[in-house]
This record gives sequence, structure tokens and C-alpha cells, in this order.
Amino acid sequence: MAWRSSGASNAALIENLVRNGLITDPRVKQAMLGVDRAHYAPYAPYQDSPQTIGHAATISAPHMHASACESLLPYLKPGARVLDVGSGSGYFTHVLAELVKPGGKVVGVEHIQPLVDIGTANTRKSAEGRELMDNGGIKYVKADGRLGSPEDAPYDAIHVGAAAAGFHQPLIDQLKAPGRLFMPVEENCTQHIYVIDKKEDGSVTRKKDMSVRYVPLTDAPTG
Ligand code: SAH
Repeated sequence: MAWRSSGASNAALIENLVRNGLITDPRVKQAMLGVDRAHYAPYAPYQDSPQTIGHAATISAPHMHASACESLLPYLKPGARVLDVGSGSGYFTHVLAELVKPGGKVVGVEHIQPLVDIGTANTRKSAEGRELMDNGGIKYVKADGRLGSPEDAPYDAIHVGAAAAGFHQPLIDQLKAPGRLFMPVEENCTQHIYVIDKKEDGSVTRKKDMSVRYVPLTDAPTG
């Protein structure tokens, strides 16, 4: 399924994701059409696969980004506040920012400074990205994302782009009520997506979803 969605251009890739049922919502389609993956993935940007971006990081596969968008979509309204943990290439931070325009804010947290710089430079390659960087629609922060980013909390939606060793309480604490957290979690050497909802009354539910493979959410490398 994943490989069949590859295309010769950004538009072809997105159309194939729609045709294969991996994008079902027109808002997700629009947002992903609006961000050229070639600005973020240096090698084969229109292939539906993860790719290395250096520093032991990968840009996730387009179908995973589509799936995260579709899951978080009820919370991605114009003006919403969003946290993207492990922002890496910046691609998904930018897609999220397109979905919460106008008036929204996406905070991308990344713990490797060269990747913060790459994400920033990638986002500035397009006029839309530059505008979002300049008007506060996107902000990149160097920090340990396991602690969230308290300065801009609470968030309507939180996406984690690396596999966590557990359910980090600061992320749940920084969710709005209602709000949704989409994160891969590693348990017994296997990873699954968990969708964690905080309801209006503050109660929290967890739903275990598909099996996945992400790079780990770790301590920052030393040296
Ligand atoms: N969403 C990104 C995914 C990059 S891979 C993209 O599609 O481009 C996962 C990223 O999480 C890597 O960039 C890695 O450096 C970062 N990461 C890992 N542990 C982290 C932590 N504790 N805090 C912040 N970022 C972290």
C-alpha cells in the first residue's frame, strides 16, 4: 500500500495517497498539497517511504504523516495551538501549520541543534513557510521534547515524531481539555501508535492503534 502511493511530483504523491485511501479528508489533502516535500526530503521526496535526514533522524513516510493529520484533524482548527515533538526536517510542523491557519501556532521541538537549523532553513524555502516563520505561525525550539514546551501550552493537539519509551506525563499535562496526543510508544520491542484523548472533563483515554517503526525518542547525543 505504502509504496504504491509514490509519485513523480508532490501533487502526484498526494493524489496517490488519496487514491489509496490514506488521505480521506479534503483539508488534509489541501495542506499536504501546499507543502512541497522536496523542500524537506533531500533524496527521493515523492517516494512514499521514510528517508534519512542525517543526525540519525528520518523524515517519516508521507502515509504516516497523512495518518497523523487525519487522526489529529478534529483538533486542527484555524487558530489552534499545536506541539510537534521531534520536528526533524520541519515537514510535518509546516503541514500542521497549514491546517491551523489563520491564527494558529505550531511549536516544533527538536533536541539536536543542527536539525533545528535544518528544519528552519527548509521551512524558509517557500513563501508560505517564510510567512509562517515571520508571523509566529511556526516556532522551532531546541529542547527535550519529552518535557513538552510549557511556554506555549496548553495545546489542542500534540504529535510525537519519535518512539517514546512511555507515556510522558508532561505531554498529557500540556494537552487542552479537550485535546488529542498522537504518539508512537515502544513496549516489549514493538512500537504502536497511541491516540490519547483528554476529554472536556479532564479525563484521559488511550487507544492503541497500528504497529509502526519510528526512530527512538531519546536523550540528546553528547559531544
Ligand atoms: N517529524 C520529523 C521526524 C524526525 S525523526 C520528520 O518527519 O522530519 C525524529 C526526530 O525526533 C529526530 O529529529 C530526533 O532528533 C528527534 N528527537 C528524538 N528524541 C528527542 C527528544 N527527546 N526531544 C526532541 N526531539 C527528539
